[in-house]
Amino acid sequence: MDAKICYRCRESKPTSEFYFNKTQNRRTTWCRDCFTSASVASRNILLARARDILGGRCQGCGITDQRVLCFDHKDGRKGKRESGDLIIRMVIGGSDEFQLLCHNCNHLKRLERREFAPRDLRERVKEVR
Ligand SMILES: [Zn+2]
Ligand SMILES: [Zn+2]
Repeated sequence: MDAKICYRCRESKPTSEFYFNKTQNRRTTWCRDCFTSASVASRNILLARARDILGGRCQGCGITDQRVLCFDHKDGRKGKRESGDLIIRMVIGGSDEFQLLCHNCNHLKRLERREFAPRDLRERVKEVR
């Protein structure tokens, strides 16, 4: 069985553990595990930076526990649903469309703004009136 030494973790692994880079027509120098852990690490760094930019605390109650904080689209009624990665990139890129809210405040905001109502239900309500 062919083996290759990963440049990052220095472990000898079967060649199948390395991605094949079509552009360079050869296997990558990092093993799959190293690619995965590196991309998770860089995502966490970006996530922390985006949270920092937005003040690092809930804009409603001020809680700083990251486990309950989420990125909230200030004008959630637009119904746009950006993916987490896109939001992080937009925040770091200087977008002011987002704020940090904890799950509680996010839920309350939705109740108050009726963001929770499914769109078709709202349309039907309009028709009745
Ligand atoms: Zn490795
Ligand atoms: Zn809160």
